Amino acid sequence: MTADVPTLLLMIIVSSVVVAGALLVLNGNQRRDGLQYWAGALLLTAVGYGLMLLRGRISDLLSIVLANALLSAAVAGFLVAVRCFHGLPLRRTGALAPVLVVAALMFVFQGDFVARLVISSFSLALQVGWVLWVLRRNRLQYEAGGGRGALLLAGGLALIGLTVLVRGNSALFSSLNLATILQGNLVQTLTFMVTFIATLVTSFGFVFMVKERADDANVRLAAQDALTGVANRRALMLALERELARAVRQRTPLALLMLDIDHFKQVNDHYGHLAGDQVLRHTVQVVGQHLRTQDLLGRYGGEEFLVLLPGTDLQGAQRLGQQLCQAVQNAPCDWRGQPIAVTVSVGISVCAVGDQPDWETLLLAADKALYRAKDNGRNRVEVALLSRGD
Ligand code: GH3
Ligand code: MG
Ligand code: MG
Repeated sequence: MTADVPTLLLMIIVSSVVVAGALLVLNGNQRRDGLQYWAGALLLTAVGYGLMLLRGRISDLLSIVLANALLSAAVAGFLVAVRCFHGLPLRRTGALAPVLVVAALMFVFQGDFVARLVISSFSLALQVGWVLWVLRRNRLQYEAGGGRGALLLAGGLALIGLTVLVRGNSALFSSLNLATILQGNLVQTLTFMVTFIATLVTSFGFVFMVKERADDANVRLAAQDALTGVANRRALMLALERELARAVRQRTPLALLMLDIDHFKQVNDHYGHLAGDQVLRHTVQVVGQHLRTQDLLGRYGGEEFLVLLPGTDLQGAQRLGQQLCQAVQNAPCDWRGQPIAVTVSVGISVCAVGDQPDWETLLLAADKALYRAKDNGRNRVEVALLSRGD
């Protein structure tokens, strides 16, 4: 089975240009994901194959030396795009080194077709391997999004790598029987067919990587309080419902702490709102230091926070509440070199083993206990007893 090589080259050129154009339009002026480098690399691919397509009709310097250098530069561009995506230093000069080597070798071996095939195949295989290596080293960073984009990209690259290795080997052991690059045979058809498919697959993979990361960030942002970085009210309520259902089902206790910063309005009035914001961040940091990984701290509103403590009974919650009051009192907030004294009041409600309260009852009870803590002088802990009707 053989296909017409110029037609295959034309398919690669058109698809590269179309995908590059789409990426540039989609990307706009953003610079952080590397899509602009990916699009640039696709355009280099198109020009490289375009020059190759004109073999015999333009000078060999353009059709051989420049064309192969551009194809090598395209893979260097894919490498830079992947590095940019991962926020790594781009090292453009390092990525260009193989391109210069390829250009020099192509210049030297202009008259030796087989040598050129071997050089281009193995240099491309090495460069593709380099991109795969960078992808693999950084894979943990995008596994959170499922990593399917990276998998697609790696698959496409591996396909190209394998194909050029087969091509290089065939050329090396003279089974390629080619007089010119535009002549068709099985290996040629395979090479350019795979290049066409891999161009699309790797580009989809890269775009999907970008999308996965953006989705991840959106999910995180939708659950996060912008000022303090802890869970926001929406995420807290979802977690409360979920943890309460789990506690009732598994017959384990669940404690809820409602924390409110004392006289916070005075901080704002006295030091300004920016200082108030700093006190909020500081309090979150101090409280967070005393929690276990399974606990969830979130901002309920203004200067009120909730802590969900799965598997914690009344005594445990009371102990932690006291600890938190102490810790916040002992660590004044630093505001431009000035210490701001901070204290918190804490209201606790607990779903004990065997209880089946709904989340609103639990929340209301913690709220009432918090008000008692305020009434009783602040910087203290009060407990709600559900059976008492708190
Ligand atoms: P109490 O001891 O009774 O809790 O008194 P308080 O002053 O802490 O409580 P109050 O409800 O009177 O004031 C809360 C203040 O918190 C009022 C509001 O302007 C401020 N606040 C709410 N959200 C923010 C925020 O994001 N940043 C800052 N700086 N202030 C905030
Ligand atoms: Mg307050
Ligand atoms: Mg308040």
